[in-house]
Amino acid sequence: MKNDCDIQEIFSLMREASGEDIELITRAYDFAEKAHEGQLRKSGEPYFIHVFAVGKNLASFGMDARTISAGLMHDVLEDTAVTEEEMEKMFGEEIVFLVNGVTKLGTLKYRGRERHVESLRKFFVAMAEDIRVLMIKLADRLHNVSTLEHVRPDKSARIALETIEVHASLANRLGMGKLKGELEDYAFPFAFPKEYEKVQALLAERTDISQKNLEQVYHKLRDALDQWGVQNAQIDYRIKHSYSLYRKLEKYNWDMGKIYDIVALRVIVPTVSDCYQVLGLVHALWKPLPGRIKDYIALPKPNGYKSIHTTIATETGIAEIQIRTQEMHDEAELGIASHFSYKEHLQNQNNNGLAKKFAWIDELKEMQKIVSEPSVFLEHLRMDFFRNRIFVFTPKGDVVDLPEDSSPIDFAYAIHSDIGNAISAVKIHGKMSTIGTKLKNGDIVEIVTNKTAHPTSKWLDYTKTSLARKHIQSYVKEHSLLSKFLSFGIKK
Ligand code: MN
Repeated sequence: MKNDCDIQEIFSLMREASGEDIELITRAYDFAEKAHEGQLRKSGEPYFIHVFAVGKNLASFGMDARTISAGLMHDVLEDTAVTEEEMEKMFGEEIVFLVNGVTKLGTLKYRGRERHVESLRKFFVAMAEDIRVLMIKLADRLHNVSTLEHVRPDKSARIALETIEVHASLANRLGMGKLKGELEDYAFPFAFPKEYEKVQALLAERTDISQKNLEQVYHKLRDALDQWGVQNAQIDYRIKHSYSLYRKLEKYNWDMGKIYDIVALRVIVPTVSDCYQVLGLVHALWKPLPGRIKDYIALPKPNGYKSIHTTIATETGIAEIQIRTQEMHDEAELGIASHFSYKEHLQNQNNNGLAKKFAWIDELKEMQKIVSEPSVFLEHLRMDFFRNRIFVFTPKGDVVDLPEDSSPIDFAYAIHSDIGNAISAVKIHGKMSTIGTKLKNGDIVEIVTNKTAHPTSKWLDYTKTSLARKHIQSYVKEHSLLSKFLSFGIKK
């Protein structure tokens, strides 16, 4: 009996596949299929469908044949009767190392939370040694989070939240923008169902992001590019990932009118000078919004992102246009994986710019050497790496994501600077509290504002976020200058 998993799909996703690669992947495919025979997923589908999806994900990340093979076999040691020795005999040490890196703990040395932490630690150690272990883990999580509807609700919420906090953060650190967006969007409805519904409802109201409107803009631009002889331009459009839209809405007090990149048209052209030519053309066709032209080619973002962005007023609304070369595009979507060329891995490239860019992987390796206690390790990991976040709620149930030990002042400024600048009293779970109280996960915070209230430099002692500090400092500075000026006026 044959399943629906066509191995050709994997080969066609690979950039190049030698005869040797095809042979290896085919052997791993057959091996995994046999080992998982008769096993079912919670969805009732054959287990092999999961490992096949992981192999496919790895091929789409641009990974090599060995990593894809290890991905196909990633659950074999944990969930089947096959032993490490058997696998090593057939596939060699390197592939067994990769599979072992994603296998959870075998022995019951630790229990409960300790056990979870120790298995995380084991994973980070393996990942720091070989980044391909992380790629397999991320490919595995991507398929699992895309099938969360088959998981018990309490469990799916936990997995979804962990996916956003851990896996999507890692994908982001690796510059894998496409993967980060996919992980977050699958997890979003399970992690924050209410917020998800709210975002969907707001999106449904916006008519300018309809398919029809997008197609109009697309065709107009296409014609202009042809007319002006811009060769080999590819255009496509994307709707902003809903989780990243949610994060942005949080920042802008849920005002959709302030978000200009819900729709973005992407123009991919061969050279940098083509990019600037297209920018000129776009501005000839539509009026650009002032202050919204961003040249990340001349001034790349700190994470290396390059592109030109401009926001235009179209016939029915606003749209962002992103202009970049193919190389910039691959780098933005695939990140670290766009640098994986055939048979060449990060671990062998210790002295070039890429290794330097991902120096945090080495830092992680150093850190785990110094810190041996599992719980201490996790604390360090969180602080340096994901930063501990807490989720605090408004009385209406909107969630604000803050660093640990934040105060109601941080909370108020996270909502809006006008609220921060006018805090007169604070209620936590309905009870009056002080503005310096350290907030806890799940707190419901109400800020009472008063026009006569204003920030003082004392508030800086109670703030954790740089956003709040920035607003307080500029308020204090402005008003102390003003009062000096006023008192000077009086003396005179
Ligand atoms: Mn798995």
